[in-house]
Amino acid sequence: MIFRSAYLKLTAIYVLIVMVISITFSVVLYRISSSELNRGLGRQGEVLRNLPPPEFFPQSRVAIENTRIAQLEESNNHLRTNLIYFNILIFFVSGTLSYFLARRTLKPIEEMVDIQNRFTADASHELRTPLTAMKTEIEVSLRDKKLNISDAKKLLGSNLEEIGKLETLSNELLTLAKYQDIESLPFEKVNLKAVVEESLGKVEALARNKGIKFDSALSKVETKANKQSLVELVTILLENAIKYSPKNSKIAIATETRDKHAYIGVQDWGIGIKEADLPFIFNRFYRADISRSKEVMEGYGLGLSIAKKIVEKHHGKIEVESKPDQGSTFTVVLPIAS
Ligand code: ADP
Repeated sequence: MIFRSAYLKLTAIYVLIVMVISITFSVVLYRISSSELNRGLGRQGEVLRNLPPPEFFPQSRVAIENTRIAQLEESNNHLRTNLIYFNILIFFVSGTLSYFLARRTLKPIEEMVDIQNRFTADASHELRTPLTAMKTEIEVSLRDKKLNISDAKKLLGSNLEEIGKLETLSNELLTLAKYQDIESLPFEKVNLKAVVEESLGKVEALARNKGIKFDSALSKVETKANKQSLVELVTILLENAIKYSPKNSKIAIATETRDKHAYIGVQDWGIGIKEADLPFIFNRFYRADISRSKEVMEGYGLGLSIAKKIVEKHHGKIEVESKPDQGSTFTVVLPIAS
């Protein structure tokens, strides 16, 4: 609705500009043409006046003069009418073209606003869920006259868990906003082996809790990159691999150089992703159907969109191959340092 009126306003502005140009052009054209005709008439009058007076029909000179004046008037009227028709035509043609042009101009802005609105709605929804859970628990506890210390501690524990979720969500939202706002990241020479080793350190405890072992094949690969964002990227992929893998399983991670590109691969043998979900997993807040898994998988569907943003900032690409119940392989391809 907002955009409908914006289309119309922009159309009106375009039409106004075209009409001002067209009318100015027509007025100038009319002035020049009619003064040319006047000059022609003046010259003809001069010639007629210098002719010897006719012996018969002396009134014929006056008649010729009048006819010429009438013709001049007629030509001027013709010119004026044609210019008016021309301007009416220009008005309709420019109106139609301007509307399409306005739509084309505003379309990307409309799409951006749509994405922003959807994002705000999704974020609000995700924020509301833990808040509602906390509010309900507190209200129920306050109504309970027999609430004892142990119940109160349980309530605080549960609230703390919800606060933890809110903290995770706001951190992920802030990270995403950071990568969206920033034009380019400061780059330095980075060894991908060191990046992966730092990320492995960050997820060590998580993997240990699930009895997951890493199978690493790390070659020294140098690339121009922002080290901290790459650590963040690999950590996201490793955390997902751990989250969506069964207990006591294995995760393979490798870095290598191939065809003048740097590769980071993370492979798991977890629940995998259905083909229908694959095109969407990098979208913000998208979570594939995980009802196949018995565990409740915590998450907000923001990790992979952050990963994608980081890869884009490095002019690289991220690809995924996955089969349900067989596992997933995420591959990051980056340009190599020259
Ligand atoms: P989430 O917080 O839900 O993990 P992500 O953006 O990191 O959000 O991932 C989006 C979705 O992609 C996940 O909800 C999950 O369904 C799917 N996914 C990502 N990584 C894996 C993986 N290694 N194995 C299976 N599914 C995955």
